Amino acid sequence: MNVKAEPVHAALETIPAESPGAPRGDDNSSLRADILEKLTYYVGKSTVTASDRDWFVAVALAVRDRVVDRWIASTKATYENGAKRVYYLSLEFLIGRLLFDALNNLQLTDPVRAALEELGVDLDRLRTVEPDAALGNGGLGRLAACYMESMATLGIPAYGYGIRYEHGLFRQALKNGWQQEYPEDWLSFGNPWEFERPEVVYAIGFGGTVEAEATSDVMVRSVWKPAEVIEAVAYDTTIVGWRGRHVNTLRLWSARASHPLRLDAFNLGDHVGAFADRMRAESISKILYPSDETPAGQELRFRQEYFFAAASLQDLVRRHMKVYGDIRTLHEKVAIQLNDTHPTIAIVELMRLMLDTYDIAWEEAWEITQKTFSYTNHTLLPEALESWPVPLIERLLPRHMQIIYLLNAFHLDAARSKNPGNDALLSSVSLIDESQGRRVRMGQLAFAASHRINGVSALHTDLMRQTVFRDLNTLLPGRIVNKTNGITFRRWLHQANPGLTKLLVEAIGPKILDDSMELEKLKPLADDAAFREKFLAVKRANKVALAKVIQEQIGIRVDPSSLFDVQIKRIHEYKRQLLNILETIALYDAIRAQPTRDWNHRVKIFAGKAAPSYHQAKLIIKLANDVARIVNSDPTVRDKLKVVFLPNYNVSLAEAIVPAADLSEQISTAGMEASGTGNMKLALNGALTIGTLDGANVEILENVGDDNIFIFGLKADEVEARRREGIDGTANISNSPILAEVIEAVESGVFSPGEPGRFGSLTNALRHHDYFMVTADFDAYYATQRRVGDKWRDTAAWGRSSILNVAGMGWFSSDRSIAEYAEDIWDVPVRY
Ligand SMILES: *Cc1c(COP(=O)(O)O)cnc(C)c1O
Repeated sequence: MNVKAEPVHAALETIPAESPGAPRGDDNSSLRADILEKLTYYVGKSTVTASDRDWFVAVALAVRDRVVDRWIASTKATYENGAKRVYYLSLEFLIGRLLFDALNNLQLTDPVRAALEELGVDLDRLRTVEPDAALGNGGLGRLAACYMESMATLGIPAYGYGIRYEHGLFRQALKNGWQQEYPEDWLSFGNPWEFERPEVVYAIGFGGTVEAEATSDVMVRSVWKPAEVIEAVAYDTTIVGWRGRHVNTLRLWSARASHPLRLDAFNLGDHVGAFADRMRAESISKILYPSDETPAGQELRFRQEYFFAAASLQDLVRRHMKVYGDIRTLHEKVAIQLNDTHPTIAIVELMRLMLDTYDIAWEEAWEITQKTFSYTNHTLLPEALESWPVPLIERLLPRHMQIIYLLNAFHLDAARSKNPGNDALLSSVSLIDESQGRRVRMGQLAFAASHRINGVSALHTDLMRQTVFRDLNTLLPGRIVNKTNGITFRRWLHQANPGLTKLLVEAIGPKILDDSMELEKLKPLADDAAFREKFLAVKRANKVALAKVIQEQIGIRVDPSSLFDVQIKRIHEYKRQLLNILETIALYDAIRAQPTRDWNHRVKIFAGKAAPSYHQAKLIIKLANDVARIVNSDPTVRDKLKVVFLPNYNVSLAEAIVPAADLSEQISTAGMEASGTGNMKLALNGALTIGTLDGANVEILENVGDDNIFIFGLKADEVEARRREGIDGTANISNSPILAEVIEAVESGVFSPGEPGRFGSLTNALRHHDYFMVTADFDAYYATQRRVGDKWRDTAAWGRSSILNVAGMGWFSSDRSIAEYAEDIWDVPVRY
């Protein structure tokens, strides 16, 4: 069979054209009645037997009804006015919980709270029973979630496309300080937010052959005959914009076999084998790959990429053809954004559909493709630049491989005619890497097929131009643009920090809820002692709440008046949690040497997951926990220093930690963090940053002013220069008595009694292979931490800087980022 851009079953549009019935009331009594109705008739429980989870489902369904009314209106309006749509393709959406997103954006938090109170139910307890939708690893997936919310807020008709992983990112537990991974089961109690669309099903082919079929005496067309066909089924989740103005769809694909059961085998008694095809097909949407930064070089991952790209392309092409009837106008009505290279095969799929299904000539198909696609680059790390072996693509997608070969031939012809004799340039821009077995380079392919390629911070974009895409940028100039990342303030300020939000509304007016740049009005208040008091009281309350979480989770009591020094993010050598731990040990040594000095009280708070196969990162987690155990049980230290590692970092834990942070650790090796968004969440909530000039830290510095941030360490170009000189750390260590003592302590087993060699691979790297410049930056970091301590003693100065951080962060709203994408990349209007 040929896999055509047609659903297996006739897919009528999935949303009815008119809302049935009257809009639902938002007053307490309507809400209460609706929640009770859902509890009774959907959940099937009475108020007597209902558990918190039952109540959560009832509330979610009652709220969802109110979203759906607006969803239908949004979709209808888009059809009626023929608006261009944005399709955001991402293999990850790190969403977290959705209840408070919907409640907050529909202004229903207080009415629902009141309605539940009348029923004797506490909304905040219900909040915590919702499982996190953790369909992502870290920053990249969280960015996709923030961008979905901002696109809805700005009234951009958009679909997010991804995979409905049955198991999201693993749950992290700590056993003796070692990371243990457990499967995550977010769907086990059902998901009240999603709509299954059994009628939206597409056939996705793999393998097989390509045959030439004569279409006339002179024309042939290629017909791909896949050996294996599986089905992609749509599940829709609504994404409500701020104040419910617009609602978009997140459409996630689930895989299933076209023939779930081989009846012949079953009847012959092979009861397990009869389901083998089904298992194989369904494995595609079974789990999220827990690789952070590096592609899992596995066939299943590639099958996931094609599966979701092909389903999404068929879906959006069908929608376009139904309304406009002409594939040649696709780029006028459709913008496709690739969130990193993972969906890049969608480019080849669109070419295939145009060439083989719609008989568009090559030149025109390529023009339309380039006008439709754009690509966001997220990393310059060489090990994370995605590529796939040619034989793998040839075997799984034979027609696509033919198209890639042709694309590369035309691409290299153009490059050769512009740069005759420049072989180095040719091999650097080629879509196929010949150096280590033949591999298709997804970054080069995504670049060549996109009218815009964006970096995610100013520095990252500059480095992109100078490094990975230097030659492509010469060949295809003017395509690289910067779109510095942002975060949605609805989640990371309004929901996570209601105390601060309330204070802001009181102090500078309610407009702050709609326009993040209003935060600038806070600046004069930084010098107002009465306001500072109120501001610090909010921070204090958030710290008391986090102290409670710490006590409950890991049984450690922390003093909320301490400086809360926070590093929360994936564990990675380039993020340099190790630098922070070494400084912690140095501080511990100093306290023990002079226990009676008037030390600041500090709590070092860590959270983050390591990729399961990333040995060094897991060892860093173990070291943090071993240091915590020794420090926390040392009676000479007590409240002067506490070290906590909170397990299972996810969006919900971030929402608890971020509002309580005083100091934000953003200490990556300069040139290695593309942007960071954790840095933005923390500064927005009043944490002062200690950080390197890396990623968006550079722009945070510009926005908050150099008196209100602690910048230290080598700059990106200096890191490059140092690396050229060599990465042995011996000299750095011998020049730093404090660092030398710290490393010796680790090596002598102070934190691993009886097993001094436990951290040998970390300390050896520091001594002889310090690629991440931990030893080179240690003294600067240590000294800067002492400046942090000095400032902390001056409560007024600290409070002033903290307020000025909040005041300066308005620019980092993802509404600003998305408005820039809309104007420079997608060519769609925004509505404020
Ligand atoms: C924001 C966020 C990240 C990204 O943090 P960085 O510090 O930018 O790496 C990762 N994971 C979660 C759960 C987040 O909320």
